[in-house]
Amino acid sequence: MSFTSFNLHPALMRALQNKAYAEPTPIQQSAIPHALAGNDVLASAQTGSGKTVAFALPILQQLTAQTLFSPRRTLALVLVPTRELAMQVGEVFKALSLHLPQAVQVTMLFGGVSINPQMMRLRGGADIVVATPGRLLDLMNRNALSIAHIQTLVLDEADRLLDMGFTDELTRILTLIPPKRQSLFFSATFPPTVQKLAEDLLQSPIRIDVQPTIENAADIVQRAVLVDAPNRTQLLRHLIEQNKWPRVLVFVATKHAAEMVAVKLRKARINAEPFHGEQSQGKRAQVLADFKASRLTVVVATDVAARGIDIAQLPVVVNFDLPRSAVDYTHRIGRTGRAGAGGLAVSFVSMDTQAHWRLIQKRQDDANASFVALDQIAGFEPQDAPLEVSFSNGGIKGKRPSKKDKLRAAVQSAKSDT
Ligand code: AMP
Repeated sequence: MSFTSFNLHPALMRALQNKAYAEPTPIQQSAIPHALAGNDVLASAQTGSGKTVAFALPILQQLTAQTLFSPRRTLALVLVPTRELAMQVGEVFKALSLHLPQAVQVTMLFGGVSINPQMMRLRGGADIVVATPGRLLDLMNRNALSIAHIQTLVLDEADRLLDMGFTDELTRILTLIPPKRQSLFFSATFPPTVQKLAEDLLQSPIRIDVQPTIENAADIVQRAVLVDAPNRTQLLRHLIEQNKWPRVLVFVATKHAAEMVAVKLRKARINAEPFHGEQSQGKRAQVLADFKASRLTVVVATDVAARGIDIAQLPVVVNFDLPRSAVDYTHRIGRTGRAGAGGLAVSFVSMDTQAHWRLIQKRQDDANASFVALDQIAGFEPQDAPLEVSFSNGGIKGKRPSKKDKLRAAVQSAKSDT
């Protein structure tokens, strides 16, 4: 199948050619014809599947068929969970609309930055708004924009929108959008809360399911390495140097760990930066830009911050800390091997997290997904299993540590890196 089969405006075809997309991805093949026909769409698709283009093209095609008045009325609204995703999605709209005969005004609105410049930008109106829900409501409360003329509503990463506590904001926004509209709903997962939202929002939707299973997710090679927790930074350094990995996205559990691991890598002369929710918007944008331009080798990120960021052809993802759930695991490793390119996902597993690793493996959506065996790497073999001690009423139950055990524990805690 080729993009020509969608009968798109020549200006959109030109923009696609500039992007050098050879053919539509599966989600684009399935969603675009229905979205162009004006149907509601309910799609399960992950970041990396090409879903942004799947909703951006039909919206832009629909705008080519109407006159855009000045000041602009907002005709399409895309709600996203994070500022990074807002910027990313907005950039896709901008790139695709570059050659359209009528200039299309695309505006990205998100929190964490001053509201005034966004209010200024909205003065002439915006045809397409890509926004996080909280900031959108703030701006609406200040009469900076109206969503009374929305023709198309997109909920992008709906599961994360709910996960991140945007339910109340979403409910308010949805009551203010005209009921007669097209709704396009994208989510990687469909827990009951997301299903309920989809039922409330959509009218006779076309259901599209191109959820990649881990096994077929764009040829991602998965590895798991058994290593003692305090030795993970050393192992990471070893792997980066030995394999000459050009760019690595490393996932950790906390902001503190992101900072610490990045500092340790920098001390080892590896160009690394943390990426987490407590950094300023400017800093995060800078880190992403540096990473994309290969000025940085490693970005050490927390889940929330890394959600939705798109770095084409990211070759390697490392789970320095294991994710909390199998779903998060799928999201994380989906950062590599994007849109058809191969990738490698390496997970560090310690004696303490082995059981959790097995659980993640067991809970994969795809029952046929092959089990990822635990490797060991020469020089980083784990010491023997940790002591099984439990604490109660101040006393220690279980095996008493020997002098050697205590010494080993002291060495480990001195080396401890999270
Ligand atoms: P998304 O799922 O929207 O985050 O897109 C993931 C990546 O796929 C982005 O880097 C897009 O530029 C890329 N992409 C989107 N559509 C295509 C396509 N048809 N062919 C190749 N890459 C694509």
